[in-house]
Amino acid sequence: MNSSASKTTRAVRASIESDTQFGAVVPPLHLSSTFAFASLGEKRQYDYTRSGNPTRDALADALAELEGGAGAVVTSSGMAALTLITQLLKPGDTIIAPHDCYGGTFRLFEQQAKKGLFNVVFVDQTNCNALLAACECRPRIILAETPSNPLLRIVDIERLAEIAKGAGALLAVDNTFLSPALQNPIELGADLVIHSTTKYLNGHSDVVGGCVVAASDELAEEISYWANCIGITGAPFDSFLTLRGIRTLHPRIKQHEESATLVANVLDDHEGVDRVYYPGLKSHPGHAIAKRQQRGFGGIVSFEISGGQEAIRTFVAELNYFSLAESLGGVESLVCHPASMTHAPVSEEALAEAGIGSNLVRLSIGLESSEDLVTDILQALDAVKLARTLRAVS
Ligand SMILES: *Cc1c(COP(=O)(O)O)cnc(C)c1O
Repeated sequence: MNSSASKTTRAVRASIESDTQFGAVVPPLHLSSTFAFASLGEKRQYDYTRSGNPTRDALADALAELEGGAGAVVTSSGMAALTLITQLLKPGDTIIAPHDCYGGTFRLFEQQAKKGLFNVVFVDQTNCNALLAACECRPRIILAETPSNPLLRIVDIERLAEIAKGAGALLAVDNTFLSPALQNPIELGADLVIHSTTKYLNGHSDVVGGCVVAASDELAEEISYWANCIGITGAPFDSFLTLRGIRTLHPRIKQHEESATLVANVLDDHEGVDRVYYPGLKSHPGHAIAKRQQRGFGGIVSFEISGGQEAIRTFVAELNYFSLAESLGGVESLVCHPASMTHAPVSEEALAEAGIGSNLVRLSIGLESSEDLVTDILQALDAVKLARTLRAVS
């Protein structure tokens, strides 16, 4: 691809017209688990799909290009991608992770550390002193997640890269919430970028997948060695669908963000809402950093509803265009209650420490018309108010 082409163009045209056999415009799907040797002792480019597959490689190339990395490994899920980076740790090594990271990440690191595979320290990475104190143990990896899930806390990636370098650690960034369309951690100094491609990259809620993008050839080689070794590479069909999803990533993200901005502002002005978390709001504590290191604020809006459990129950039941489901980043809007859903594996104590209250609601703003979404939210909040009034008078 012409190196002056924009990322939007590259995403659309990734592996287009790469088929040498028939000139297929869209790259074919290679489902074969195995590939014939040319002759004894003479293998071709591919031999076995766990180790390498043309369809999966087309996706890996596209992901590396969009993130500005040297190479990428496509994994069977986002958690597989996180498992993959833990292969870089030996017993005694430490990984520093955010105290409010994705629930599955928290569980993975905590349980593996319990078995003595490595040490983990969870820290509030927006607190520079706490982070520097944690770095005294000379970590091997610092994992960041920015914006974080579900509170959309922002950490300064450039600053973190400096701290990691000073501590002799690799910086890995989980970039799932923004996608490469809005943030490129490698350009800001990260060594590894992780995605749950289940979310915005595939974007249609019909694939579970992940990837790790490496900044250097050396790291790319090391992670692809381990991915094959432990057998967590992604399936060809999933790769085909994800590559198709990536072609529309940029226009999708633009629309997700436009509607999310509208929703965030409407919620911010609403009396039935205690607090809104959206990095695009000037009141958000990470707004200035987000503005500097991101090209947009994304499509996730979290907020605290006033009125406790009853209010949440009514709100989610009354919504018409938001499905009550985990996950995010698909074309359809979703609503989630983190404390009982995505973050259920996290202990009550850790939830409180991370500031994830039981009145927190997370919205993944989809591609339905923004007026429909706002109208739907407003009518559900009206229903919450009405139910409260009725309870008060009965
Ligand atoms: C969903 C998610 C993951 C896990 O990815 P899966 O594809 O569900 O395994 C990891 N990190 C973040 C930030 C996520 O949102």
